[in-house]
Amino acid sequence: MKFTDLSKDFLSNFQDYDNHEIIRRFEDEETGLLAFVGVHNTNLGPALGGGRVRAYKDEDEAISDVLRLSRGMTYKSAAAGMPLGGGKAVILADPYNEKTPEMISAMGRAIDTLGGKYISAEDSGITEADVALMHKQTPYVTGFPDGSPSGLGGDPSPATAHGLFCAMREALKFKHNTENFKGVHVAIQGLGAVGYGLCRILNDHGAKISACDMREDVIAKAQNEFDGINNVGVNDIFDVDADVFAPCAMGAQLNDLTIPRLKVDIIAGAANNQLATPHHGKILSDRGILYAPDYIVNCGGVVSVGYEYFQRSDNNPFDYDLTHDKMMDHVEQASKSVSKIFAHAEAEDILPHEAADRYAESIFMDKPLAA
Ligand code: NAD
Repeated sequence: MKFTDLSKDFLSNFQDYDNHEIIRRFEDEETGLLAFVGVHNTNLGPALGGGRVRAYKDEDEAISDVLRLSRGMTYKSAAAGMPLGGGKAVILADPYNEKTPEMISAMGRAIDTLGGKYISAEDSGITEADVALMHKQTPYVTGFPDGSPSGLGGDPSPATAHGLFCAMREALKFKHNTENFKGVHVAIQGLGAVGYGLCRILNDHGAKISACDMREDVIAKAQNEFDGINNVGVNDIFDVDADVFAPCAMGAQLNDLTIPRLKVDIIAGAANNQLATPHHGKILSDRGILYAPDYIVNCGGVVSVGYEYFQRSDNNPFDYDLTHDKMMDHVEQASKSVSKIFAHAEAEDILPHEAADRYAESIFMDKPLAA
């Protein structure tokens, strides 16, 4: 396996370069592995972030992705109050036709070269089974199929759905001065692992739910399990006259085409990178729509895999035992910080996503929160 660290000179040609600590390129002829690991910042602790497998068009595209995603993880972990930095790994391969167990094992060896500065986990193209395979080569992975040996972690989506609900409740309180979901109408895009979990919690709290998904089977399941769910076409979800829109399918759903159609006044969802560009945060605000910044709202995932890692590596950074209840408590507190972010945005006359970045920077860079 050959590896080399990309120079600052080379990296400064990339728009997303932000003085990342390490961008390491790996090439393994035997298994065909071509990959990059990015460590953005380790001020608070080792850089945690999933590994992706994707058929990038070239190395520059993969480097841009690792730069952007690893930086995003620094902000997410800091804002979530986790003693972790931000990192990410990308493998240049088609996840369906080119990924092999040998390649994933080689990725485990690649991660090991960083000696614990980077901790990998599942992401698109990397499954929990791949994490277990990489673990044969390195201890620096987390997100196992069943969590830690004592059962902490595992599938992070219940923690993410819980955090999303708590953040949505804060948004409701901020916008409408109520925490009561009875009759509040939420339009959910995507009833996958997180969206379905959110649906269950909202149903328990008496909310009115409209939902869409590409998969008819999950819609049918939800309609069976919960009373009165309104099934909406995937192209109609943006037009639902509701109180809250919860994007829980994929990124960039808040864009020039969709924002003018929205008839909600709150957005809180699990998807990463919901704003197509930062400017769309301004368009939402101009329309009077309160946007709960995605990486604050969906922090449950990183808290869950982080707790799992701390327990598996027998390295508890907190002054309490690592239990499932404590982990869910942590998610709740971290998601509720969205109310501080709304208040800060209002006080400083900035947008919520800008206030979220300042909040994260106040933690990992020790910068004052006010401008
Ligand atoms: P998932 O793959 O289980 O669910 C996504 C669902 O969206 C699927 O049911 C899919 O059929 C549906 N979908 C895809 N395109 C759609 C479209 N155009 N319209 C309607 N439905 C569509 O994923 P998940 O784990 O539930 O995560 C949801 C989002 O939240 C993802 O963007 C993910 O990156 C993000 N996220 C998830 C977690 C977590 O803990 N799982 C944590 C942080 C962020």
